Amino acid sequence: MFDTATKVHDETRQGEAFAPFVNDPIEYKRHFYIESYGCQMNFSDSEIVASILNEEGFGATRNFEQADIILLNTCSIREKAEQTVRKRLTEFRKLKKQNPSLLVGVLGCMAERLKAKFLEEEKLVDLVVGPDAYRTLPKLITEADGGQKAVNVLLSREETYADISPIRLNSNGITAFVSIMRGCNNMCSFCVVPFTRGRERSRDVVSIIKECQDLFDNGYKEVTLLGQNVDSYYFTPEADGKPVTFANLLEMVAQISPLLRVRFSTSHPKDITDDVLYTMAKYENICRYIHLPLQSGSTRVLQMMNRTYTKEWYMAKVDRIREIMPDCGISSDVIAGFCTETEEDHQETLQVMEYAKYDMSYMFFYSERPGTLAQRRYEDDIPEEVKKRRLQEIVTLQNKLSVDSYKNDIGSTFKVLIEGTSKRSDNDWMGRNSQNKVVVFSKGDNSYQPGDYVWVKVNESTQATLLGEIVKA
Ligand code: SF4
Repeated sequence: MFDTATKVHDETRQGEAFAPFVNDPIEYKRHFYIESYGCQMNFSDSEIVASILNEEGFGATRNFEQADIILLNTCSIREKAEQTVRKRLTEFRKLKKQNPSLLVGVLGCMAERLKAKFLEEEKLVDLVVGPDAYRTLPKLITEADGGQKAVNVLLSREETYADISPIRLNSNGITAFVSIMRGCNNMCSFCVVPFTRGRERSRDVVSIIKECQDLFDNGYKEVTLLGQNVDSYYFTPEADGKPVTFANLLEMVAQISPLLRVRFSTSHPKDITDDVLYTMAKYENICRYIHLPLQSGSTRVLQMMNRTYTKEWYMAKVDRIREIMPDCGISSDVIAGFCTETEEDHQETLQVMEYAKYDMSYMFFYSERPGTLAQRRYEDDIPEEVKKRRLQEIVTLQNKLSVDSYKNDIGSTFKVLIEGTSKRSDNDWMGRNSQNKVVVFSKGDNSYQPGDYVWVKVNESTQATLLGEIVKA
């Protein structure tokens, strides 16, 4: 399952506002402003929302003061994420006073969690729309224009937005996310996702392949197949009735072109099968990188988390990955201080981290979320200072593992996809290797462009970057 309490959040993108139509010649009558929080899935959904609104004649703006509709696509994973949104809403209150026809809407997980309560709690909100109800946005906007508060938080067993071509917001034109499934059927006890995103459903394989092919035809060189639990992808096309598994899907996308890199996110360790691993090993363009969230190294705690694997089983999975793909990068999610966690449990987490030698991890201390199984069943009984101290030990260990992992690459040569100019210097390119490590290197004679593959020899490393030089194209 997708690892919600610790789901991969790109902190640099929280609250990002998008507007892809910078040079759009169309004059729009109304404009929308959308700000996104949370995981990549939410950012991807904002692209679907943009597409739906654009079809209705709305243009995007990066300036909320110009907008007729302000939308916040929200996350419920931690209290802090919700507080940020509430604070943001109070900032928009002033605007609404100046411009009473302005509509303010809340989308995403927080909308789903709080439903109509949102309208009572946050008086200025006009629209509350859950993740499965974005198609109804135009109708809801019409209702809100008429002065009604509009709410649709129905979860669906079918909605995958398969036929909607997302508008690539804030894209570098080289890498893109492609949604392949939605929802989650695992019931990790700490996680809010089964309640905010509903049951698992897989998107039509034909529409996925078409979207990936279109991206490649438009110059994109990397797709990340996205879902809350990608390994449980399973779709039966009506045409031939032959089920398509995640391993099959990976292969089909990899076959579009050897020049199109394929990544995926996120996996549940229990679902990543040998079939998937062998398919990855078979295709050079399927990246050698797996995010394999551990959460805890204690079998007892894992059981309480309802993760459905033991410490030993997880370690055997790491062995299996390394056996089939010795060069595969592995990263993780770790939670410190889950309910009842003892010092021994915590030590076991550190042991498994040492064993797996993660390249990087997303690390958090446990924060109870209303409505989750853990909140209903267990007491959040670890004092905050203990949680923080354990988290610090986890972070310190991961820093050491990352330094070691990046140092190990010194002297190696990697095929790197150039994504753009390095943030640190206009004279350097930034790209990633197959293992998802950032590589920075001198542009040299400038004959390369973003989207090109180059071979880079690593000369130096930091905790999160490899520094090198181009050795051949
Ligand atoms: S709560 Fe929603 S937005 Fe936040 S990480 Fe989970 S699925 Fe993503």
